Amino acid sequence: MAKDFEKGGISVQTEHIFPVIKRWLYSDKEIFLRELVSNACDAVTKLKRLASLGEVKCSDSFDIHVVIDTDLGTLTVRDNGIGMTEEEIKKYINQIALSGALDFIEKYEGEGQSNDGIIGHFGLGFYSAFMVADIVEIRSLSYAPASRAAYWSCTETGEYEMGEGDKTDRGTEIILHITDAEKEFLDKTRVRAVLDKYCAFMPVEIYLDVVGEEPEKDADGKEKAKEPINDIHPLWLRQPSECTDEEYKAFYKKVFNDYRDPLFYIHINADYPLNFKGILYFPSMSHEYSNLEGQVKLYYNQVFVADNIKEVIPDYLMLLKGVLDCPELPLNVSRSYLQNSGYVSKISAHITKKIADKINSLFQNDRENYQKMWDDIKPFVEYGSIRDSKFFERVKNSVIFKTTDDEFVTKDEYIASLPAAETKPQAENSGDKKDGAAEKKKIYYATSQLQQVNYIKLFREAGYKVLNLDALIDSQFISFYETTENDISFVRIDCDSSVLKQDDAEKIENEVLKKLFEESAKQGTEIVFERLNSEKTPAIITLSEEQRRFADMMKMYQRSNSIPPMPGEEKLVVNLNCPLIKKLEALASDEASHGKAQDIAHQIYAIAVLAQRTLTADELSQFVDSSFRVLEKL
Ligand code: ADP
Repeated sequence: MAKDFEKGGISVQTEHIFPVIKRWLYSDKEIFLRELVSNACDAVTKLKRLASLGEVKCSDSFDIHVVIDTDLGTLTVRDNGIGMTEEEIKKYINQIALSGALDFIEKYEGEGQSNDGIIGHFGLGFYSAFMVADIVEIRSLSYAPASRAAYWSCTETGEYEMGEGDKTDRGTEIILHITDAEKEFLDKTRVRAVLDKYCAFMPVEIYLDVVGEEPEKDADGKEKAKEPINDIHPLWLRQPSECTDEEYKAFYKKVFNDYRDPLFYIHINADYPLNFKGILYFPSMSHEYSNLEGQVKLYYNQVFVADNIKEVIPDYLMLLKGVLDCPELPLNVSRSYLQNSGYVSKISAHITKKIADKINSLFQNDRENYQKMWDDIKPFVEYGSIRDSKFFERVKNSVIFKTTDDEFVTKDEYIASLPAAETKPQAENSGDKKDGAAEKKKIYYATSQLQQVNYIKLFREAGYKVLNLDALIDSQFISFYETTENDISFVRIDCDSSVLKQDDAEKIENEVLKKLFEESAKQGTEIVFERLNSEKTPAIITLSEEQRRFADMMKMYQRSNSIPPMPGEEKLVVNLNCPLIKKLEALASDEASHGKAQDIAHQIYAIAVLAQRTLTADELSQFVDSSFRVLEKL
């Protein structure tokens, strides 16, 4: 090297900064490549700007090469951007490091904090190279006319030397002598993966070269033109009007490695004051829960920052996949910054609004398609509504429910479908309604099409639609929905027999049958008599909606199905319209056939219970005994 090289130590911080870099930044060490490549991009962007202002004449094509040399053990990042003079290296590399390091040490040393957002925040981006290298060299030639090439070299202890260099073409080369411990960064696959992660959309073409590697040839044996590893014009930066449906889908499949088309997408192009762009996709969900987790990649001016930053993206949007480019956010930001940033909450609000608008427009303009995708978007809409009342306010008129007949209805459509008797104001049905307040309409639902099949049949016969709410989130959603929509309440079909009866007659008593069923039914079961529309059904069990919901909640917390129903929870509704019940009454009234009547009552009770829940051990053994006795009498 030249004799007149200036020597020095990056003095004050020599003992501090290098060990600190290694220690603090250790967990995220691959980030060094993002830092160096984005510096290279900046250098190109600066030169392009000068050229566009007419301050420099330059018609070159710009590119960045990341070069692996396994023989020398070096990884080099080379650009043909603005370059640096010796003075600039002193100013930007030596001195910035000094002030940055001092700030850094003051703030973090000894506090045991995590390293989130340290690199770059204090102008330490370049120095992240020392996480993987023991010597770093800079070879640079500035764009400025008549510049001398500059050379700088620094060891991991912070000793540097600098002076005139021998670079003859414009730009900068950062050469990292990779330490033995970090040899993985000389492996092409590993380096490629890091570049793909952080640099896939950077604005300057990036090539990955390996010294000594045979160039790829085509079928005719001709050398193939190298492809850049990145896409310098990512779709999200284009005007939505210029992008085609195919392009959106292809982008999604490539970035998220999904072979399926997304259900729908939105392209956000928010100008001042928010100034962020992005595309969010609603993935087609399979029924596996693992697929529910989405991936929203956050970029800063085309530089990848992180996935799923929960401070920026509301948690219910985490189901989505997509990219967001937020140039107003610093590249390296601390979590506490994000949590308290007004900008971040505005981004969230904007995204929420856009998604809600999309959902509403699909509902209004393409109902058929909307219904087809409802099963997929339903968990998102329901969860989002529970989590964010503003979101719910926006989408509530687009919420639809699937019925047990696979139809889809809104709340209002359901109410309009109710048989005439139900739509009458309450005051006409019962005398004790005060103030003429609007009656709550009941929306009937089933939670299992299999278990509740009998009830579904009865309701269908009575002219009612039954919603199919069999997903875990449904029970939470309907409780939430009831608190905001005051005109309705949800009732599971095994909780209400009132719509199944023929008339509004007041209580019907039948002492003989009551006594008989009391002997069969579980203790605490209320026994009532009705004349149901369906003659075929001798009896049904109904529950109290409130108590059942409470019991369901308890079950959810205790993760067990074995909790017996609470006392008073079950009601046995005996159907006086059923010929079998009439026969039973006759048998029960006759002393001689009382035993037979008891067995039949047992059977009727057990079958009614079976349509609602599994039998307890006692009930089952009683059922088996009485079944055999009945068979004997045949
Ligand atoms: P930051 O990029 O956050 O400013 P860095 O430590 O990464 O901090 O870089 C310090 C400065 O060094 C940059 O601002 C830039 O002026 C200069 N620099 C770094 N790399 C290059 C490069 N490849 N070409 C030109 N200048 C560079």
